[in-house]
Amino acid sequence: MIGSDGSAADIEFDGVRKVYDGGEVAVEGFDATVEDGEFVTIVGPSGSGKSTLLRMIAGLEEITDGDIRIDGESVRGVAPQRRGIAMVFQEYALYPHMTVRKNMAYGLKLTTDLSADEIDERVEETAAMMGIEDLLDDKPAQLSGGQQQRVATGRAIVRDPQIFLMDEPLSNLDAKLKVHMRTELQRLQEDLGTTTIYVTHDQEEALTMSDRIVVLNEGELQQFGTPEDIYERPANEFVADFIGSPAMNFFDVELDGATLTGEGIALDVPGGVADRVRSEASASTLRLGIRPEDIDVVDPGDGVATATVDVVENAGSDNYLYLDLAGAECRVRVPSGVKPALDAEVGVDFAASDIHLFDDATGHNLLLTDDGRHLVGEREQPA
Ligand code: ADP
Repeated sequence: MIGSDGSAADIEFDGVRKVYDGGEVAVEGFDATVEDGEFVTIVGPSGSGKSTLLRMIAGLEEITDGDIRIDGESVRGVAPQRRGIAMVFQEYALYPHMTVRKNMAYGLKLTTDLSADEIDERVEETAAMMGIEDLLDDKPAQLSGGQQQRVATGRAIVRDPQIFLMDEPLSNLDAKLKVHMRTELQRLQEDLGTTTIYVTHDQEEALTMSDRIVVLNEGELQQFGTPEDIYERPANEFVADFIGSPAMNFFDVELDGATLTGEGIALDVPGGVADRVRSEASASTLRLGIRPEDIDVVDPGDGVATATVDVVENAGSDNYLYLDLAGAECRVRVPSGVKPALDAEVGVDFAASDIHLFDDATGHNLLLTDDGRHLVGEREQPA
């Protein structure tokens, strides 16, 4: 068994590549190191290679090229049940004819030489920790979705793995329960300290749960960083667009002296920004990104642009405004008190310190320096 000392493990991905039999490249040149005890989420659109990556760690898929090492040891040639891993799936895959107790004990019986009494003790301890001790003699069909989810998680925990792999484990739950289980899983992971890799297509889940996030697109790593890194300092336009809801706004602009100009937009930027853009950008067209919450609605004529109000959406504590800015949609998140009339003309204002600028050809964030800092403004900087 890899690293069988019962503690958490680190996971190193070294140039991992996966090509399926049909020639489909699912994962390409993936490099990353997940630290001992970390909660890392892999997020990306459908088909981006998230499950493939997880299944390669688990040993359910062969690695085509490169290697995955757990605590420094290659997983190649190591059978799935000897990798110190427990998985929780979207389909809980509970055995319907077995009680909760038997479902939880089954894996232990197969993979350990614990006695029946020891197994029973561990199952009861884990059930208590998960708050399902009263359900031990029920069958899965008698349980609610949330309870089934807890049993599936409990069944993974009882094996005391070094690594949890979770593939969209909450996606079958209703919205409220999902938010609750998110917190519950997070707390559990913190208490257990077990290295966890969690796959989701839900960027909000990724932002709220993780120590660090892997963003994948078309099998390639886009960025690996803390939720703050990913949100405040996206590496490229894909990450900026994928993370955040409502999504970041993008406008085509050009640099004219130290002013960014586009359809209906004029924004002065610091000289340092202008210099950097001139030296780094591969084309004259740039993509200006601004998050909906970084925009203020002001009087027409004030601000950096003028727009008309298309839709006002009430989102509880906030309103989402959908504006027409010279033919482009501009999403704005404002406090619920701000409620301009439909078709009204409004000013759109944002600070140069809040913008993101992307190379139109490569998608790269032009304002990120090599040491991961953001070039302008009072934006949060890494320590
Ligand atoms: P995700 O989990 O992000 O939705 P997957 O890892 O399931 O993505 O899939 C990545 C790519 O690999 C997709 O293009 C998918 O069609 C392909 N793929 C996944 N599983 C197989 C398979 N068993 N055989 C062939 N191609 C597959």
